Amino acid sequence: MTWFKREKRPIENPTPVDERRVRTEGLWMKCSRCRAIIWKKDLEANWEVCPKCEQHFRLGARRRLDLLLDDEHWTEHDSELTSGDPLRFSDTKPYAERVRDAQQRLGMNDAILTAEGHLCGRAVICCSMEFGFIGGSMGAVVGEKVARAIELSLANKRPLIIVSCSGGARMMEGVVSLMQLAKVSAALAKLDEARIPFISILTDPTTGGVTASFAMLGDLNIAEPEALIGFAGPRVIEQTIRQKLPEGFQTSEFLLEHGFLDAVVPRKELKPYVSQALSFFLD
Ligand SMILES: [Zn+2]
Repeated sequence: MTWFKREKRPIENPTPVDERRVRTEGLWMKCSRCRAIIWKKDLEANWEVCPKCEQHFRLGARRRLDLLLDDEHWTEHDSELTSGDPLRFSDTKPYAERVRDAQQRLGMNDAILTAEGHLCGRAVICCSMEFGFIGGSMGAVVGEKVARAIELSLANKRPLIIVSCSGGARMMEGVVSLMQLAKVSAALAKLDEARIPFISILTDPTTGGVTASFAMLGDLNIAEPEALIGFAGPRVIEQTIRQKLPEGFQTSEFLLEHGFLDAVVPRKELKPYVSQALSFFLD
């Protein structure tokens, strides 16, 4: 028997794969937590929060900006940037085609929107990530747009808000996506020197390279309830250490309790909360 052979024990009680999945057939849907049958229009009107149990479903990038910015009015910046497919990458389908499909489906060029608008009367720069666009992954375009948003914020002395919703770095762009971590972190350091506040809002999910860069570098890091936040996903960790993780591991509440977050704020209270925080920083 070889001493270095890895033992293939099964994982104890793995997390069910479809635990948080939302079923979306027809006009009605079933809440994955309280099992209530909700009319989709009601859910939409309630900013994708279950009216019965307050479960927070994923909110699209545009709706997120409407939620945070006054009169649902904002001006978009750098919308023309698109990925150049530096590695000519192809997996089950070519990366260029994957990007094109997402662009057509969502009407945006990459996984983040940069907006200039007002939050409770205060001029701000706000970035919002779209999970539907290749898992909200950060490639060269997302990194560049975040860096430019930081520069815009510096030039106009406006506070910066970034709403993260991402699976991490975009593997189809390899090392080009990884260097975005260093780039945006360096840009944020300049914002810090200029004493301009940056508020990071983490939503479900915020993982990988996004957690490892700007999402955790806010002057305030706040999250929505029960969001998955981490570096590697819980299943990857379970498979690596071959142990069941503690209850609620990598949720906003767990991270708040362990000092990784400053607050957990329900979606509908986010805007007044951010406004109050900005008044605290600036007035
Ligand atoms: Zn519910």
